[in-house]
Amino acid sequence: MKLAVIGTGYVGLVSGVCFAHLGNEVICVDKIDHKIAMLEQGEVPIYEPGLKQLITDNKREGRLRFTTDLSGAVQQSNIIIIAVGTPSLPNGEADLSYVNQVAEEIALAMNGYKIIVTKSTVPVGTNEKVEAIIKQHSMHEFDVASVPEFLREGSAIHDTLNPDRIVIGVSNPRAQSPLITMHHVLTNNIVVTDLRSAEMIKYASNAFLATKISFINEISNICEKVGADVTKVAEGMGYDKRIGSSFLKAGIGYGGSCFPKDTQALIQIAGHVDYEFKLLKSVVDVNRDQRYKVVSKLQSIMDSISGKTIAIWGLAFKPETDDVRDAPAFEIIQSLLDLGARIKAYDPVATANFAKQLIHPNLQYCSTMEDAVHQSDALCLLTEWRQFVEFSLIQLESMMKQPILIDGRNVFSEEQLANTSFTYYSIGRPSLNQGVRERYPALLL
Ligand code: NAD
Repeated sequence: MKLAVIGTGYVGLVSGVCFAHLGNEVICVDKIDHKIAMLEQGEVPIYEPGLKQLITDNKREGRLRFTTDLSGAVQQSNIIIIAVGTPSLPNGEADLSYVNQVAEEIALAMNGYKIIVTKSTVPVGTNEKVEAIIKQHSMHEFDVASVPEFLREGSAIHDTLNPDRIVIGVSNPRAQSPLITMHHVLTNNIVVTDLRSAEMIKYASNAFLATKISFINEISNICEKVGADVTKVAEGMGYDKRIGSSFLKAGIGYGGSCFPKDTQALIQIAGHVDYEFKLLKSVVDVNRDQRYKVVSKLQSIMDSISGKTIAIWGLAFKPETDDVRDAPAFEIIQSLLDLGARIKAYDPVATANFAKQLIHPNLQYCSTMEDAVHQSDALCLLTEWRQFVEFSLIQLESMMKQPILIDGRNVFSEEQLANTSFTYYSIGRPSLNQGVRERYPALLL
């Protein structure tokens, strides 16, 4: 098949490359010249494991091209995939300006029947607006389909090539069969439905996963007070097939480019039809509060944070990505700076992206994880990169001025803490906390 993918971000680039890998002829389009120039030279503008090799292989095979010429790409393709961003507006609604603009550009370029597939996450009713925009600007026949994306950054190629399911929303059955042909090599779990249901499936899925995270974080907060271990609680819950073990990891809450904006957008979608989504509002509130636990815990351990040097390991919202959109690290670092701390921060790949958004005289970005902790008064681990998890805590203690460790992702074990004198705090595991005043739960006293 001949495909054009509009937008070469985390979704568009990975999808385009994977569809080329599956034997399709793919043209990836972006409006940012330097992104396309990089891609043409074999450089990858984002960090995603395995992506560079796959781009090189498929370019060599002649199945993958990059361009800023949207019009040419549309004219040479049968299926056009929209994968541009839908960031949050200040009121929480999805900003559809990129989708609407691309719809118009596609319409003006069309030279015959096309299937236009929206992969961007868009509110219910958006694909009908896309249909209307195209109809307004083109005389040619077309169909619009909603095929939402479920990949996870950090394992995006694996997820794209091994999806749990493919959702295809169409308003005209004519588009159904080519889209099933395009996707059936990936999975048999293909849900064909109408446009609105497909749009809703994406939001409902993300809202449900966010709910699981906030749920286990609330359980972790109770665990700390009653003397239970949330990791064991989650393990015990997760074996129940009705519950499942994924997304039951207590920590400092979710971040990234999807859950925060998609939960807010769904609250807005519900609000527009006079429905108050109380459960999801609480999920969002719990998630926001959870980020500040790192700060409040440090405050309870240290007499004062002002003037102290706090090391931060991890700036990306999750490991194996350079994406810092809505990363918890922003609010945590900003709070510590407001309290007068000096921050030394390190991330294996996300530092440059983070530094574009947060500059402060008391914030130093370090080039190694060792630099960050050297002579620091405390370390906060915010992203569970493997190199942090595997670092010897005995060595870590020897490098720090004071052995205070806040483990925001519950990565360190009792064995790793043995023979150290860390004042240690993790999330919902009170029996592991060492030297923390609240080690003995109130209920047991
Ligand atoms: P992104 O911001 O990384 O990439 C969007 C790209 O679109 C940018 O490179 C931008 O330059 C390009 N673009 C914008 N307007 C354009 C135009 N008129 N012509 C050509 N290119 C244009 O976004 P992303 O993370 O890839 O997300 C894209 C969509 O997919 C969003 O709706 C998001 O919610 C959804 N999604 C994202 C993920 C994820 O993990 N990132 C997962 C599932 C779904």
